[in-house]
Amino acid sequence: MKGNYRMKSQEKQMADRIILTGDRPTGPLHLGHYVGSLRGRVGLQHQHKQFIMIADAQALTDNAENPEKVRKNILEVALDYLAVGIDPTITTIFIQSLVPELAELTMYYLNLVTVARLQRNPTIKEEIIQRGFESSIPAGFLMYPVSQAADITAFKADLVPVGDDQLPMIEQTNEIVRSFNRIYNCSVLVEPKALLSSVPRLPGTDGKGKMSKSLGNVISLCDSVADVTKKIKTMYTDPKHLRVEDSGNVEGNPVFAYLDAFDPDKVALEAMKDHYKRGGLGDVVVKKRLLEVLLAELNPIRAHREQFAKDPAQVMRILKEGTEVARKVASQTLKEVRKAMKIDYF
Ligand code: ATP
Ligand code: MG
Repeated sequence: MKGNYRMKSQEKQMADRIILTGDRPTGPLHLGHYVGSLRGRVGLQHQHKQFIMIADAQALTDNAENPEKVRKNILEVALDYLAVGIDPTITTIFIQSLVPELAELTMYYLNLVTVARLQRNPTIKEEIIQRGFESSIPAGFLMYPVSQAADITAFKADLVPVGDDQLPMIEQTNEIVRSFNRIYNCSVLVEPKALLSSVPRLPGTDGKGKMSKSLGNVISLCDSVADVTKKIKTMYTDPKHLRVEDSGNVEGNPVFAYLDAFDPDKVALEAMKDHYKRGGLGDVVVKKRLLEVLLAELNPIRAHREQFAKDPAQVMRILKEGTEVARKVASQTLKEVRKAMKIDYF
């Protein structure tokens, strides 16, 4: 009885959680998003209060000269959400730049962070190199982890389902929350926890780094059968596995990373890996299995997407309504923040 009660109260605690995640509208969403965060959000929305943000202001930090790209991808990302099963009647989907309270919070948080601390962020360091920003970093780009802290704390989110590239951002957020609550002697802001999936970093088709929209190494959720086929055919495998009879490497081989993430038949997959390592199994056969597995996952998503894409005005209405809800929540937090900072003059 007692145990039962404890379980119930734990369940309640879990059900009370607030989730905030988001994606940059820099391109349609890909397999990395799906396994890293998106798939999890579909399940989480039934138990928790979930907010999903399309991070257009953040996307502009490294796309300032390309606003059309950001604008166009708002709809693409929203279609991807709906296609995988995010339900806008229970999840609030909103557009970041239309919640100006987030920009104001960012302003205040920037005073709690040093430039040196921002430069130490390992994800930012990696992204600066990838984007060729070494000699001139846009200031907005360097401080986007602070704006992410504003996004998370504005909703008092305590759970953030993300890929592992986002762990330094959660750490930065927690530092800001602790500084803010200490300096202003309050408990207004809430420390969030990252929620990592079983695949926290899916590699790109080039086998180099993480699959990422900005690196052009993605399989998108909306890719046609022909595109997926072509991308798999040309994707990186083990460069030393030249002839079928050669023994091959499974580690660092993105084909097997994708099979690990998506193939439901784990027993057959282990046998396949052993065969590949022993030699005698060609890339063509392994890639054929990968194509079969991926299309089984992607075909229904694409079909759903095509349905929603018939009525873009309806999708934009969903975003408008979600943004109105998000704005109310963020402005309440901002009120509390201003009060704690003693700048609530009138
Ligand atoms: P960009 O190249 O514009 O930064 P991206 O592909 O990195 O785009 P984001 O919008 O930055 O995608 O990331 C959104 C969310 O998806 C984050 O939580 C991130 O951790 C997760 N994510 C992105 N790529 C991957 C990946 N390859 N594996 C696992 N999770 C990922
Ligand atoms: Mg990214």
